Amino acid sequence: MGTTVNPVIFDQSPPRKAFSWKSRFSVLCGWITAYLLIRTGWIYSYDDWNALPNFKLKADVLVTKDLCTQAPPLTPHTHAELYKNLSGLYESAAFKLTAVQALGGAVQVPTESYDGMAPVGQDARWEVFGKLHEYLLAEFPLVHSSLKVTKVNTYGIVYHWQGTDKSLKPILLAAHQDVVPVDPLTVKDWVHPPYSGYYDGTYVWGRGSVDDKASLVAILVALETLLASGFVPERSIVVAFGFDEESSGTEGAGRLFDELVSQYGKDSFAFLVDEGAGFGEFYGGLFAIPAIGEKGYLDVKVEVSSPGGHSSVPPRHTSIGILASMLVKYESEPYPAVLNRATPFYQTLTCIGAYAQDISEDLRKLILASIDSDVALTELSNILVQDPLTEAQVGTTQAIDLINGGVKTNALPESAWAIINHRIAVDSSVKATMERSIDLLLPLASKFNLSVTAFGENITDASVPSYGSLTLTDAFDGQLEPAPITPTDSASYRLLSGTILATHKASSAYKNLGREMVIAPGMMTGNTDTKFYWDITRNIYRYGHSDATAAYAGIHTINEAYKASALVEQVRFFTTLILNADEAPEL
Ligand SMILES: [Zn+2]
Repeated sequence: MGTTVNPVIFDQSPPRKAFSWKSRFSVLCGWITAYLLIRTGWIYSYDDWNALPNFKLKADVLVTKDLCTQAPPLTPHTHAELYKNLSGLYESAAFKLTAVQALGGAVQVPTESYDGMAPVGQDARWEVFGKLHEYLLAEFPLVHSSLKVTKVNTYGIVYHWQGTDKSLKPILLAAHQDVVPVDPLTVKDWVHPPYSGYYDGTYVWGRGSVDDKASLVAILVALETLLASGFVPERSIVVAFGFDEESSGTEGAGRLFDELVSQYGKDSFAFLVDEGAGFGEFYGGLFAIPAIGEKGYLDVKVEVSSPGGHSSVPPRHTSIGILASMLVKYESEPYPAVLNRATPFYQTLTCIGAYAQDISEDLRKLILASIDSDVALTELSNILVQDPLTEAQVGTTQAIDLINGGVKTNALPESAWAIINHRIAVDSSVKATMERSIDLLLPLASKFNLSVTAFGENITDASVPSYGSLTLTDAFDGQLEPAPITPTDSASYRLLSGTILATHKASSAYKNLGREMVIAPGMMTGNTDTKFYWDITRNIYRYGHSDATAAYAGIHTINEAYKASALVEQVRFFTTLILNADEAPEL
C-alpha cells in the first residue's frame, strides 16, 4: 500500500525462532509486539481497500494526537550534574569496554534452565547459578558491599539500595539469570561459541547475551556506576533476579514474590520494569512499545475413553477417531478474535494511526474512525485477523500441540488424548476459555454418547449410561489469567515514557539521524517473570531499551549476540530511570 519499512533497521534482522512447546511459559523476549507487526506486513497484505465503507472522520481527530498522548522527554533536574557527568562517561570507549566485559563474563557462565527440573537442592543442574553469583560478586564489588543482598531459594537475588526517605515507595527492576539451553548439535553453526562471551568489536556473542543477561548486566553496571559516583538515593531501589524464567519461573520469581511481599508488602512498589518489548520503526514512525499487558495461558487436555477390545471387530469410532473429530472441530472453529478498544494492542494501533507518517491514508482513517465507530472497529478487526500474527495480538489463540493414543495395532485404544495450548486474550479469562472448549465439544460428546467431566465438574448426568467418556482438564495446572492492564494515565507511565524519550535523545542514533520517537503502549503474547508480580504494583512495564538491530540473530536461537552500543544505551536507560524516579515524589 505504498509504504516502506526502513530497510536499514529491519531488513537485516532474520526471523526469530518461535519458542517450542517445551518452554511453554517462556517469553518471546524482546521486541515481540514490534516484531510481530513488522513481520506480518498486514498493511501490505490487505488489498481490498475499495471494499471499505468511506468513513467520515471528526476533523479534529486527524489534527490532534490526543488519542496517543505523549509525555515530554524527562532528564534529571536535581541530579542534573550527575546525569551530565555520567552521560559523558557513557560516551567513552573505555566505559563501553567495561560494560562489554561485564556482559561477556556473565555469558560465559552457562546458566541453562530446563523444563521439568526438580527443585533447588534436588537437581544438580541449578548449581551453575552459584558460579554466576561468584562472578557477579567479583565484577560488581560496590553493589555487593553497599547494597543489602538477599538470596532467595539459594539462587534468586534481591538487591536493596536503601533510600533516605522511607516514605517513598521503592522502584523494582527485574531480569532473569537463566538462559534457554543450547542444542549441542547446533554449536558448530555458531559464528563464535555459544558460551564464549566473545567481543568482536561490535557484538558480544553467546547464549543469554540478549535474553536476558544484557538487561541484568546493564542494571548492575548502572548501579555500580551510580555507587562509584557517590549517588545517594532518596527513593529505595530494589532489584530482583529470577533464575528459571525460561522454564516455569516457580523456583525463581515465584519465590522472589513471596520474599518481596514479606519484606515490602503488597502494592508496595512505585513501578516495576522487567524484560519485554523495545522500540522499532513502523510505517515511517519510530515507536517504543512498553508492554502494559500479557496474555493469559491454558493448556486444555482433551481425553477420550471408550471400550477396548480386539481390532478385528471394531466399533465404528475408536477413542482416537472420536478425539480426531474433536480436534477437527477445534481447528474448524477457531476462537473468535474481536478487536476491543480497551486492550493494549488497540492503543498500539491508535498510536500508529496517529503518528506513523507512511501509513496508508485508508488505514489511518480506518484506525482513527474505529475510535468511535463500531463499524470501523469491526472492519479493522476483520483485517487484523486475516494474518495469524496480528490475530494473535487481537484474540485468544489455540494450538493443538500434543497428542497420544493407542498401544498396538490389534488392540482398540481405550484412551486417547491431546493438549490444546491457549494464549488468552487480555479481554478474556481462563473461565471463558474453559467454557469455550466445553461448548465446542459438548455436541460431539452427545453424538458419540460420552459422559463429560470438564475441569473437575460433571457436565452430564453421571447416572446415565454412556458409551465412553470425555474429560477436559488443565493439563499441567499451568493456567494463568491475562495480566491486569497497567494504566497509562499515571505518573509512573509518564516517567517511563519521558525516560525512554530522553534516553533516545541522548543516543548517537538520535544525534546522527534526528528521528523523533513516539511511545505506544503494547502487549506481550508470551509471559515474563512479571506473571508472579501482579500484587506488588499496578505499574508493571515490560520493556528493554533496544531495537531489532541490537541483536545479531534474535533470541532462543543460534548466533545470539548483542551489540555493545546497545548495551551502553541500556545502561543509560536504567541510569536515567533511577535518577528520574528519585526526584519524582508523585510516584
Ligand atoms: Zn527473557
